[in-house]
Order: sequence, then C-alpha cells, then structure tokens
Amino acid sequence: MNVFDHRHELMPRGELEQLQLERLQALLARLKRHVRRYREKLAGLNVESVADLARLPFTTPEEMAESFPYGFFACPMREIIRLHTTLGPQGKPLVIGHTRNDLSQWGRLAARQLAASGVTANDVIQVCFGGGAYGSAGYLFGAQVLEASVIAEEPAHADYQIAMLRNYRPTVLITTPTMALELAEVIEQRRLDPQSLQLRTVLLSRPVDRETRDRLAAGLSAPVQCNFGLGEILDPGLCVACPAGTFHLHEDQFLAEVQNGELVLTTLCREALPLLRYQTRVACELVQGKCACGRSGVQIVPGPRLDGRLRVKETPFYETQIAEVLAHTRAAGQPFTLKVSERHIVVSLELSEALFADTVWFVENLKRQIESDFLARLNLVAEVRFVNPRSQAVPDETGGPTLSPPETGRPLIQS
Ligand SMILES: [Zn+2]
Repeated sequence: MNVFDHRHELMPRGELEQLQLERLQALLARLKRHVRRYREKLAGLNVESVADLARLPFTTPEEMAESFPYGFFACPMREIIRLHTTLGPQGKPLVIGHTRNDLSQWGRLAARQLAASGVTANDVIQVCFGGGAYGSAGYLFGAQVLEASVIAEEPAHADYQIAMLRNYRPTVLITTPTMALELAEVIEQRRLDPQSLQLRTVLLSRPVDRETRDRLAAGLSAPVQCNFGLGEILDPGLCVACPAGTFHLHEDQFLAEVQNGELVLTTLCREALPLLRYQTRVACELVQGKCACGRSGVQIVPGPRLDGRLRVKETPFYETQIAEVLAHTRAAGQPFTLKVSERHIVVSLELSEALFADTVWFVENLKRQIESDFLARLNLVAEVRFVNPRSQAVPDETGGPTLSPPETGRPLIQS
C-alpha cells in the first residue's frame, strides 16, 4: 500500500481525536489572540472535547469577502510568503495567504495524494494546468517532497503537451479534466497509439463522472484518479483519493461537519489563514468507517455547489458576474437569459427599442464587443444573441435589423 505519512493517515481513531482536540484548543487560542473578527465572536468560549466544536460560531464566505483582502489573516504580512486569489461568493475575490510552514505542510499533504497514486522518486511527472486553474502549485510542492522529476511547461496546448508526452516519456500526468479530454481527443484524431505513451497514472484536478473517467482511461491508456479540494482551504491537500476512489479527509489537519447538507470545515494547523467552521457552500455527505485502504480519515462524498456557482471548462463564475459584465456595455440593464454548455455560455439579450432600431453594423459590433468583454473579464467564451422583446421572434426586414449568421452557421437571433 502506498502511504506517505503512516502515522497520520493510519492513526487509530482515539489517538486521532486526542490530537484533534489539542490542535483545536491551540487554534482557538491563536484566533482569539491574532484575528479581531474571531476575538469578539469567541470571547468566553472554550472546548473540552471535539464535540464542543458544535458550540462555536461559523465563518461564512461572505464574511471573508467583507474583510477583503487580509482581514482574516492571523499573522503579520512579513511572515506571509505566498498569496493567491480564489473565487468567493457571487464572484467576489478572496485572498489566501501562506507562511513558510503552511507551504511546507501543503507540500507534505499533496505528497500524501501523489504517493497514494503510486508516485515515487523514480517517476517523471508532467503537470499541465492553464485555462484559469490555479491549483498546480500544490502538486509541484508535493512532487518536490517525493523528489520526483517534474515537467511543468506551458503552453497548455494539446499538440504541445502531446509532444512533451512523447519526448520526455513522463509516467504521471497531472492536469485538469478539460485538458485531459482535449489530449485524448487529439490523440485519437492524430491516430496516435495511447499505449505508446509511458503513462502509469493520470491525476485530475477535480472529480469527474464515471463515464468521463473511463473515457480518459481508455484515451490516455492509464488509470485515472481525481482530486477534491477547495481554493479557500487547500487544493490539492484537503484529502487523499485512495485506490478505492474514496476521498479521505486529512483529519489530523481538518475537522469536517455537515450542517443542513453543507460541508463545514475547520483548519487545525494553518498559520496564515486559519478558519473556524467555514461554510464551504458545497453539498456533502460524510461516511465514517473502515476503508479497504486502511486510512482512518473520514470519507467525503462531495455533491453540487449550493450557492449557484456555475462552471464552463475550468472557469467558475456566478450569474451575477454576467450581469456585471453587461452593466459596462450599451446593453446595460437589459433583461437576459443565460445558458451554460460544456464549452461556452450563451447570453440571450433583449434589445431595447433604441438599440433595436439601430443599424445592423452597430448591433453586430455590440455583439462582438460584449463577447470579447466576457473573455477578457471572466475568461469565458460567450455567444451573444439578441432577441426582440416585443415579438420574441426573429426580426426580419420589416421588424428590425437582420444579421448575418455567425461562423457556426446557427441563426444569430433566436426566439
Ligand atoms: Zn480508502
């Protein structure tokens, strides 16, 4: 069995709970001392057992967004050596900081995942993210801990990455589901033999359904494993996907609860940004009990987002952000409907009377401008369609501007 940290990953339940209690008490002391927002909330509160966690206050993503950028940091900025941004509630940014200890701990936690996936110092790992994903840092730290060789080269372009796979002969590929699907497609189109690659393992940055996993395993000729993480907590490094496909939480580092179907997490050891009972806005089930792999960490079964967060490829966004982009254009305030497909969004906008009476040239330009705004501001490929609010039908020569069809051949204006 491939276990990186025997002591913590296989720790007996009683010993684990004692360790959790000690760390929870230390966390409370740290929060009261260093984070003003918690000092007020935690006044007079203490814990005698892990079960006392239930009496402590929650932390919401909205509170984190309100205290942007550094309101929840528990150490002075001179101790922070890495910062990154993650998407917060309704598109507001959240800033995550790491101390030197946080980063080295991140590496050890990511190494648990890599070791569980069979990675050793003998492996050559190709890491390919891009397209809006930010999580590759943790995998690089983890690979360094295991002393595996890493190729982390951009661009995230399928032909380029396939050339790397053929030239460097990596044994492990760590990438996003979007990139993995693109690689498998191009390998098939070019009639390359996936078995000629040397891949032993493919590790994906987020969970995918069974069908996609099987398709990728066949297309890349290697077993596929998925990660589950959260940008505000750790991604990767929150849990380990064991060979049984189960996500075991690193319970020596995090406490998990489910409140009204929502995953709630407490960080036990994080220095820069410790979070108490953080409401993740992710639906979840927790399963206790022995797993065939021997790990003691509670099993996380993640469900859908609970806050309306949407995603196209690897880019997450909220509908409120769509309205914000439109607010900066001539179509500001116009009613719209949003459709999300696997590869792009379709925004159907009602044209105002004034815009509707405008020239074809003007309306076509407006469409292109809005589409380019979506790409620039949200990294989303968008197709903008205009609808006539009165007829809700395709306007013709008598009803307004007639536009040439877009490159896809579909009619630009749809009812
Ligand atoms: Zn397991």
